[in-house]
Amino acid sequence: MSEPWFDHPLSREIDTAITAVRKAAGLCRAVQAGIDLGEMQKKDRSPVTVADFGSQAVVCRLLGDEFPADPVIGEEDSRALREPDNEALLDRVTGHVKDVEPDADPQRVCAWIDRGGAKTYAPRFWTLDPIDGTKGFLRGQQYAIALALILDGRVEVALLGCPNLGPALNADRGEGTLCVAVRGAGAWQMPLMSEGPASPLRVSDQADNTRIRFCESVEAAHSSHGDAARIAEALAIAAEPARLDSQAKYAVVARGEAEAYLRLPRDGKYREKIWDHAGGVLVVTEAGGRVTDIRGRDLDFSLGYRLENNSGVIVTNGRVHDAVLKTIDELEIGRF
Ligand code: AMP
Ligand code: MG
Repeated sequence: MSEPWFDHPLSREIDTAITAVRKAAGLCRAVQAGIDLGEMQKKDRSPVTVADFGSQAVVCRLLGDEFPADPVIGEEDSRALREPDNEALLDRVTGHVKDVEPDADPQRVCAWIDRGGAKTYAPRFWTLDPIDGTKGFLRGQQYAIALALILDGRVEVALLGCPNLGPALNADRGEGTLCVAVRGAGAWQMPLMSEGPASPLRVSDQADNTRIRFCESVEAAHSSHGDAARIAEALAIAAEPARLDSQAKYAVVARGEAEAYLRLPRDGKYREKIWDHAGGVLVVTEAGGRVTDIRGRDLDFSLGYRLENNSGVIVTNGRVHDAVLKTIDELEIGRF
């Protein structure tokens, strides 16, 4: 059976991106399976470092071979990995990459990682978060491999590989979930680690503000939980928020398991990174939802690796968007 995008002009990009994200997810799952979640190991961040570098190496290797002219704005570069003190770390990364790309060696791995080292805007580029939600990865919870193709400042193709997200929020993680979105064509989810049918994603059509289910970061440092609670109170929202790491939150809104994802700034200085949102934005908008910042502005992906002109991120099913924005304004949230 052919995929819904088989005759799309970007089908080669989509297929390459899917292969890359699936391979990177295999690497991440193998590294995560080796984490000892016991108290003793919790301070050791090296597994996420290994998987982060390994995931970026694998994705950039495949993108670079297929589309050598395309810049990739990725979260990592190999500078630290090349330091003599980090030889053992580089060997660990190389070992994991070799399981997926057998011709890997330390030099190649560093070169592949650095294919993802672009920082500035181009008319055509990819953006990659090799492991979004590093804290979730270390806790054995949600994380995502997020990849998007941006043309003339617009996200055209987006992938979220969520290895620990099952087909429904309370289901077993199973084979994980892969969300794919193509501008103007739709958004789908399918099993991440096995071939399986793509089913269309559709946001919830709930328009009653009091029945909003919302998600937010687990990490209070990334989004103000206090301001989210004030919004919930003002709108008489009864349900407790679902706290998840990574862009898995976008997937949850896209498939109608929550009406909103609130990312409320803690200060006036932090600028969101494009790789933390590009994938999720198209998945949700193609599923019928809406994404803006807390002032109702579209996210602007044409300004380099940061969302320089935006503050926070509000993701909804569309129906409740204006009510959430109005409440944020009335409560004077995000005015620093
Ligand atoms: P989440 O898993 O949704 O909490 O988001 C994880 C992402 O938060 C990471 O990839 C970081 O890039 C990003 N991040 C780091 N510091 C901040 C901050 N102060 N505010 C918002 N996001 C942040
Ligand atoms: Mg991230």
